[in-house]
Amino acid sequence: MEFAILSETFNKMESTRKRLELTQFLVELFEKTSNEVISKIVYLLQGKLRPDFEGVELGIAEKLAIRAISKSSGIPVKKIDEEYKKEGDLGHAASIILEQKTQTTFLVEDITVERVYETLLKIAKLEGARSQDMKIKYISSLLNDASPLEAKFILKILLGTLRLGVAENTVMDALAITFSENKENRKILQHAYNVSSDLGEVAETIAKKGLKGIEEFKITLFNPIRPMLADRIRSEEEAAEKFGSKFAAEYKLDGERVQLHIEGDKVILFSRSLENISNYYPDIIEKIPKRIQADNVILEAEAVAINENTGQFLPFQELMHRRRKYKIEKAVTQYPITVNFFDILFCNGSSCLEMDYKDRRTRLEKVLKEDEFAKHIPMAIMNNGDDVSEFMENSINAGSEGLMLKMLDKPYQAGSRGSHWLKLKREYQNELGDSLDLVVIGGYFGKGRRTGNYGTLLLATYDEDEDTFTSICKVGTGFTDESLDQLYQILNSKVTIKKNPRIDTEMEADVWFEPELVIEVVASEITISPIHKAARNKIRKDAGLALRFPKFTGKIRIEKTVEDASTNEEVITLYQGQKKVAHDKSLM
Ligand code: AMP
Repeated sequence: MEFAILSETFNKMESTRKRLELTQFLVELFEKTSNEVISKIVYLLQGKLRPDFEGVELGIAEKLAIRAISKSSGIPVKKIDEEYKKEGDLGHAASIILEQKTQTTFLVEDITVERVYETLLKIAKLEGARSQDMKIKYISSLLNDASPLEAKFILKILLGTLRLGVAENTVMDALAITFSENKENRKILQHAYNVSSDLGEVAETIAKKGLKGIEEFKITLFNPIRPMLADRIRSEEEAAEKFGSKFAAEYKLDGERVQLHIEGDKVILFSRSLENISNYYPDIIEKIPKRIQADNVILEAEAVAINENTGQFLPFQELMHRRRKYKIEKAVTQYPITVNFFDILFCNGSSCLEMDYKDRRTRLEKVLKEDEFAKHIPMAIMNNGDDVSEFMENSINAGSEGLMLKMLDKPYQAGSRGSHWLKLKREYQNELGDSLDLVVIGGYFGKGRRTGNYGTLLLATYDEDEDTFTSICKVGTGFTDESLDQLYQILNSKVTIKKNPRIDTEMEADVWFEPELVIEVVASEITISPIHKAARNKIRKDAGLALRFPKFTGKIRIEKTVEDASTNEEVITLYQGQKKVAHDKSLM
């Protein structure tokens, strides 16, 4: 398939943010796509080469790309650099420069999607001393045969700056329309995606085998399953109201969610955002397979840092020390953990997702033999709100952050925030009743002791309908010198010249960041705001919602993707809950 078709579609997609239009462009594209190439196109339009969990990263530096453009076009590096500074986007700058040049030359051969994809994959896999030169060679040979528009998109993919703003759901809508003529079938596709986390694979299956193939889609060991999420509640009474008289409660530990795929000695660990995190936990890799009594399993657990002397659970932040490339063995002994299992998703070649919670728990207890390191997460059956209060006390005393409440007779709903799991946190300092996970979109330089750091950050919620990040507050409190340094290190690699189009705010900032980092904040109240864009027009016309007295809790939620951040829907629920509490108090 000609790459020109793809780049023309990308170009059209870049000019709109409307979901219906994006879907239509995709349908037109998929109609022209052969079954052999559809998975590659699905990865490319998300700016990827393979599903996230495989960790294939292009990560080309701008300098290297500029050298490649120069090599293929004969235009001096300096001129390309100048154009880049003017445009703020290297892909765009290159297309302008090459446009001027192609008026005097002609193209050699058409490039195909297959060739671009294979070359990019080769580039991603290059390592070692001569890899830089080889990368330049591969890139310039592609650019040699590319039209200016094609060059623009090849460069954007290479640099990781292709952001068409197309959410996974939009891709699935378009697949359902193209291959089953009914958008409603998205739900069936969604299930296949939830159990495979591989949108390319889903696309190829529906293209080749139709809906039937999708319905038969099976879990594959070592391909992560998208995790089930919980709704939040504010009180013990609400738990009993929602779940009635008999349900399970488990400690809600404050660690890292780990999905373990195990067969014999082979173990792969995935984070909540489905990144392969096996390297950070050599202790899990070594010890857990010995505790398993099954041929193969997929289990879920919370890895929690502990105080070795007292056995107390320590906060999530302690685990950050393990996020390092080198000297991981030292971190393993310095920051010991326990692994606390709470679910089983697959066992001896079969899915467990359809089993009830209580049957899954029984199976889990059979399959995993406990010891000091591997534990079943503490669980008890609740009959009423009082039971919940008592179990909550135990859980807090053990150093956990609250409870997870789970319906006994419900299956595991991969990839969705259902109402079959509820989370109840105990946060005294937070009058809202829960913390929010917000996306860092902008920064303001600090003064005084904070000179050289970002003293204040601009934060956003996730708007699921629009697939945008809507500003909700600025936060400047709750930071320690250490956390400011840490944030500065992380955020520096996310600075952009132009504001990402998915950011929706009228605020100014000293710097804009790619929306990629989630941090946790608490606040005293949610108020109506004329400036912020969160939940705009939802509560009051021409106004959004904002957080009053927001404070950083110290938790950088690296395990969360930005689409996992608190949504506007959640903020609206909190806002309404807060009004209800105020109303109830006024009646007392
Ligand atoms: P939150 O991050 O506040 O949305 O809470 C959900 C997270 O709690 C999950 O992603 C897990 O990492 C964590 N968690 C802790 N204990 C449990 C448990 N018993 N069951 C499920 N998730 C748990």
